[in-house]
Amino acid sequence: MRTPLIAGNWKMNGSAELIHAFAEHFRDAILPTALDIAVMPPFPYLHAAFQAFQGSPLTLGAQTLNPLNSGAHTGEVSGRMLKEFGVTYALTGHSERRQLYRETDDHVYARTLAALNVGITPILCVGETLEERDSGSTMDVVLRQVGHVMARLEPDQREQVVIAYEPVWAIGTGRTATPEQAQEVMSGIRAYQGEFDAQLAQQLRLLYGGSMNAKNAAELLAQPDIDGGLVGGASLKIDDFHAICQSA
Ligand code: 13P
Repeated sequence: MRTPLIAGNWKMNGSAELIHAFAEHFRDAILPTALDIAVMPPFPYLHAAFQAFQGSPLTLGAQTLNPLNSGAHTGEVSGRMLKEFGVTYALTGHSERRQLYRETDDHVYARTLAALNVGITPILCVGETLEERDSGSTMDVVLRQVGHVMARLEPDQREQVVIAYEPVWAIGTGRTATPEQAQEVMSGIRAYQGEFDAQLAQQLRLLYGGSMNAKNAAELLAQPDIDGGLVGGASLKIDDFHAICQSA
């Protein structure tokens, strides 16, 4: 059985106050027993979150990482540093990184590998733009992004990767993919993995992201190939994030 995972990507939002409010709320929250929860605040809050989340069901995630361990890379943060602060998950290939910071499939592979090398679980993000969907190339784009990373990893590394399908047109737009649209792509990703390794395909955790909220989460999470959510805007509101966790 795949344990559901709900991850909250705060992007460049949040505050130290919000970290403490989350820690306090979730310490006593009633939640499904088999559920992993991650909160991904911006880098400066990781240390406070690491301390505040002790004794709560919240684990910690980072939004990106540099492929190297250290060096002359002004402004960058390495996986080794993140690991020191109890980071469990790291996003790689988020569409905002691909679009705004020109990250290519090669960069995404290097970051995913760097996370694995320090014992952080990468959440590899993939997804098509509206133009790509309209031109009928959704599956080609998504499987290219998945394949570029997964095909280059060793089997024991592949097992540890979580994949998040986030259609670019659904991110921050309030326009969620329908459960059927999401399921179709995610079953395609699982089937593609099955061509390498049938057992891995069954274990692979697949998250949906893109305008997931307290209202639409249950229907999305009920799809057979959706094992969790990568939540943006709604992950900044305690009640909404709790409700999404409750739907998993
Ligand atoms: P929204 O939930 O705000 O659409 O963001 C999704 C996302 O990009 C999570 O990584």
